[in-house]
Amino acid sequence: MSPTTENVTVLDAMVIGAGVAGLYQLHRLREMGMSVRAYETATGVGGTWYWNRYPGARFDSQAEIYQYWFSEELYKSWKPSERFPAQPETEEWLNFVADRLDLKKDIQFSTRIASAHYDEETGRWNVTTDAGEHINCQFLVACCGMLSAPLENRFKGQQTFKGEVYTTGLWPKGEVNLKGKKVAVIGTGATGIQVIQTIAPEVGSMKVFVRTPQYIIPMRNPKYSEQDWAGWCDRFNELKAKVRTTFAGFDYDFHDKAWADCSVEERQALLEDRWENGSLALWLASFPEMFVDEGVSEEISEFVRGKMRSRLGNDERLCDLLIPDKDDYGFGTHRVPLENKYLEVYLQDNVEAVDCQAAPIQEFVPEGIKTADGTVHEFDVIILAIGFDAGSGALSRIDFRGRGNRSLKEQWQQEITTAMGMQIHGYPNLFTTGAPLAPSAALCNMTTCLQYQVDWITNCIDHAIKNGKKVVEVSQETETQWVEHHDEVASKTLVVKTDSWYMGSNVEGKPRRLISYIGGVGNYHKHCDEVAAEGYPGFEMR
Ligand code: NAP
Repeated sequence: MSPTTENVTVLDAMVIGAGVAGLYQLHRLREMGMSVRAYETATGVGGTWYWNRYPGARFDSQAEIYQYWFSEELYKSWKPSERFPAQPETEEWLNFVADRLDLKKDIQFSTRIASAHYDEETGRWNVTTDAGEHINCQFLVACCGMLSAPLENRFKGQQTFKGEVYTTGLWPKGEVNLKGKKVAVIGTGATGIQVIQTIAPEVGSMKVFVRTPQYIIPMRNPKYSEQDWAGWCDRFNELKAKVRTTFAGFDYDFHDKAWADCSVEERQALLEDRWENGSLALWLASFPEMFVDEGVSEEISEFVRGKMRSRLGNDERLCDLLIPDKDDYGFGTHRVPLENKYLEVYLQDNVEAVDCQAAPIQEFVPEGIKTADGTVHEFDVIILAIGFDAGSGALSRIDFRGRGNRSLKEQWQQEITTAMGMQIHGYPNLFTTGAPLAPSAALCNMTTCLQYQVDWITNCIDHAIKNGKKVVEVSQETETQWVEHHDEVASKTLVVKTDSWYMGSNVEGKPRRLISYIGGVGNYHKHCDEVAAEGYPGFEMR
């Protein structure tokens, strides 16, 4: 049935999602005087920080830079309790922001967007929700998140398991009792590591199914006093300017002296200093050569392996299982997790690391998990920390149809492309944040990059309106140029040689391409700023 004007909500603009980007996008478009609403699947705001409420969830950007920068007053009126606050505090903070800006009245919760079809005659989008509601809007901004399509139901026989199964990215709101239970954790990415180290003291026993070992960095997470936070507040303008220019949107950046120009002692001192920092600085504020030079990559990898070995004592089996081998992949060629006594968990008597490279998980059975060597591992609870269909997954679940009824899902099953991660040729008036081929898809402190994209999109829409234009669509040529530039930069790095969600290799059949722009946040912003300053060449307005 085609919608009639009586049962259609007609808007100037619509935002999908009420996470970090969606909240700010709603605020910006509303400030422009547009009729705008946001639609959100969850019952509350937060996005990632709503869904990922698994034990131990916390971010690993420091609280002083995981911030909104558009209001100094807002920054100063929230005091984080520690350097890397946990999920409940971050969800609380995003609720505080939404309440301060009075955003909730314009957000429809518990609503999943099912489809969005572009009408070429009107230049507007017809959107439907899973409840059959219809929305008609001119501009559609999809702030769906880069890690919001969790992989679930991935194992044969999963429904036959008699115990409880939890997916970290869909963790229930109520209490989950793991006390004294026999628990399995599948996955040792950033999520699995946080879960494992957090639940270890309460479970009866735990088996961790380890497939690919991880390089890790111990997190240093001091509490923040009033005085500490006042110190950060004094630096608001400096931090705000800095995070926009660095490689990964943090307040730190790569060392200014080349690896080759440093003595062995200087290199060692710098690596030790960054390690002691207890943040991602060892990765994103040491030597950029680690991303492109195999020799440097190996030396830094060995530095980390040495630190890890010393924590696992002489346990050769554990070292083999948990520490990446020289031939596996280099430090930092996929996401490096921060941790807190994660390795020590495996030294507990009631914890076992199961080598599921040697004997992969075959299927779930009523008692637990059966591995390829025929062993049935019995459990009460199985926790899936197996990751996400990153970058493209959240957008592909919506049936986006652009000009000529083209399907974004079908298109991205062949090849994932965007222009600067913010528009896709053939989908006029659709804008995206956190989408593939921008730093915000992975290689950025998320608040830095998402706010930048929201500002750029808002200014682009404003420019179109002020010039009497109704439709904005990136040209094929501009998109292709961006994709070629993206690929050229990526191809020079070692990142493209490592299998991970960065390359889409964690999802069967996903086209291989680095999901995130790796030319640096500062360079990305410079490029996007130039496009805006020149009046958006390549973004056709009609
Ligand atoms: P992930 O990095 O993709 O890790 C998924 C894990 O599941 C990997 O260890 C993977 O092993 C394993 N796995 C998947 N299928 C498996 C199978 N069939 N059998 C055995 N193991 C299997 O996902 P994630 O840990 O959820 O992290 C995703 C991203 O979220 C992170 O990289 C990070 O950007 C973000 N995150 C951030 C924070 C933070 O800020 N502190 C916390 C959590 C997550 P293989 O590697 O062998 O495929």
